[in-house]
Amino acid sequence: MRILIMGPPGAGKGTQAVRIASFCEIPHVSTGDIFRAEIKGCTDLGRKITSYLDTGKLVPDEVTVEVIRKRLQQPDSHKGFLLDGFPRTIPQAKALDGILGEMGSALDLVLNIRVAPQALLKRLTGRRVCRKCGATYHLLYQVPQADGVCDSCGGELYQRSDDTVETVTNRLDVYQKQTAPLLDYYRERDLVREVDGELPIDQVWAEIEKLIRSFA
Ligand code: ADP
Ligand code: ADP
Ligand code: ZN
Repeated sequence: MRILIMGPPGAGKGTQAVRIASFCEIPHVSTGDIFRAEIKGCTDLGRKITSYLDTGKLVPDEVTVEVIRKRLQQPDSHKGFLLDGFPRTIPQAKALDGILGEMGSALDLVLNIRVAPQALLKRLTGRRVCRKCGATYHLLYQVPQADGVCDSCGGELYQRSDDTVETVTNRLDVYQKQTAPLLDYYRERDLVREVDGELPIDQVWAEIEKLIRSFA
């Protein structure tokens, strides 16, 4: 399946994406994760994009689209994929249509994870991520067994540098202005299915699993 997971920053896309990817046996393609890996590796691309991530601005479309084009050309994407964090603008969505068209494929399903804006700030400022395996935790909602340590790999948990109140406010604003309009773009094609993202994590997953099963 070719799935796109959408929703504002903090909606729970990454958390659910891990489950979807494992359930459907498809790669989890997250532009945010790719960008953070480039920055960590001090690559040319990493140097070019670091200021965008730090301030919560979108990386320019041309750069982002090329990263995705390369990723979707990898052999593991041919059986399907889960896109998380891309596309985020209408030009990116159009570019994705072009890339998939060249591959003779198209999106099957767009999941829209809905969470009210008031809940998002708390979710993002309480988020902690494993430095080693990337697993996501929350200080209140998904508490690790030992303080600051990843349950699954023992790695150190850290706070993303863009999960500060100031940057989060900017990211939520960018989402409303540039990314939310994409939903109508996909609604016109009847691809969007709504998911209540305010339920506990396991119940959100149960809703998503039902939608995916009804699709297959
Ligand atoms: P996104 O990828 O959409 O930005 P994440 O999956 O990283 O969101 O989740 C943001 C934060 O909220 C994380 O700390 C995560 O543990 C927590 N979280 C995710 N889903 C839920 C949920 N359904 N209820 C409460 N907290 C959640
Ligand atoms: P979240 O999971 O909280 O929504 P992401 O990890 O998806 O955040 O994105 C982090 C940052 O990476 C964004 O604020 C933006 O700077 C950059 N980014 C990620 N995906 C894209 C994209 N498709 N287009 C432009 N910038 C992006
Ligand atoms: Zn870990």
